[in-house]
Amino acid sequence: MHMPITMDTPIKIMTEAQAWLERIKGLPLKHRVRIMNVCGGHERSVTLSGMRTALPANIEIIPGPGCPVCVCPEEDIYQAIQLAVTDGVILVAFGDMLRVPVNVSKGDIRSLVEARAAGADVRPIASPIEARQIATQNPERQVVFFAAGFETTTAPVAAMLVEGVPTNLSVLLSGRRTWPAVAMLLDSEDAGFDCLIAPGHVATVMGPEEWEFVPREHQLPAAVAGFNTESLLAATYSVLRQHLEGRQFLDNCYRGVVRPGGNPDAKAQLGTSMAVCNANWRGIGEIPDSGFCIHPDYAANDARLRYDDYSAEQRRRAGQMPPGCDCARVVLGRVYPNQCKLYGTACTPRNPIGPCMVSDEGACRIWLSSGVEYAA
Ligand code: SF4
Repeated sequence: MHMPITMDTPIKIMTEAQAWLERIKGLPLKHRVRIMNVCGGHERSVTLSGMRTALPANIEIIPGPGCPVCVCPEEDIYQAIQLAVTDGVILVAFGDMLRVPVNVSKGDIRSLVEARAAGADVRPIASPIEARQIATQNPERQVVFFAAGFETTTAPVAAMLVEGVPTNLSVLLSGRRTWPAVAMLLDSEDAGFDCLIAPGHVATVMGPEEWEFVPREHQLPAAVAGFNTESLLAATYSVLRQHLEGRQFLDNCYRGVVRPGGNPDAKAQLGTSMAVCNANWRGIGEIPDSGFCIHPDYAANDARLRYDDYSAEQRRRAGQMPPGCDCARVVLGRVYPNQCKLYGTACTPRNPIGPCMVSDEGACRIWLSSGVEYAA
């Protein structure tokens, strides 16, 4: 069993973040090391704190597939739009899904916001509780909860189903599991990174053990991090030191929150009302075992079974991105956001072209909002 290597140097007068930074600067790194973070929250903290510029130039922090809105297949968004427009349901969704555009002919409705402007009943919500409240308050209407998200978002949806929902509420689920996307990258010819910072919130729910395959099967250093700069720098130090010493293990640098085994109640609810399935990631394609779908025992609440599939013929295009949008390669860490030629010109948070510019967890939006300029 490995002792964590993040706790062994006493911190003196400096702030904790400064101390970790000094330790990192003291490491005898001779060559470039690429560290991928998997979480949009991590990316936001890294960018807003200026961590990239504070670190030595040969340490690269690469944003990875950590934005659920960015990878939500466009056929799912199209289906949600059609349910609101054509079937006349009350369509509820987390706020950042409303502005995500899909590819449609000029003049057609291209987002849930546009559907609402056209008269459809589309309502932003902040939690599954609100979805249930809206269904209870509108017993004569059908309510569809378009639930797109990773494990942390899907677990409360699972809990809602287990606790019971009104018969007029169904769920259009677009839930995704994060580790299979990283496994897919690591199984590819060039993963594009040397070390991994694993997502703290996902590990809180599912347990850090899910990420042990990274050092065990791929011999890459890995560390679970929290969301403040100190935790991210501690995780950075850990993976760099593992890298230098040629030993790989999963270091938990978010110990106050991430516990072995994760959250047993949340996992039990996920296991009861959800099943694991292959899933399409927008711009990337199908990844085995990377999705949640509603368990057959809860079929009565599955909007995919309750309504016609509007996307069946027209929109199965493996998650195509808008023309010129590099979002798929941004999500996979193949390019930085500001290497897209539309970044900050045609594509801005006010007028997003691709999903990575819409969500608060999208790398393009985070970078542009933080003042990162176009990389000529
Ligand atoms: S800047 Fe806009 S168009 Fe370019 S990758 Fe990002 S979201 Fe897509």
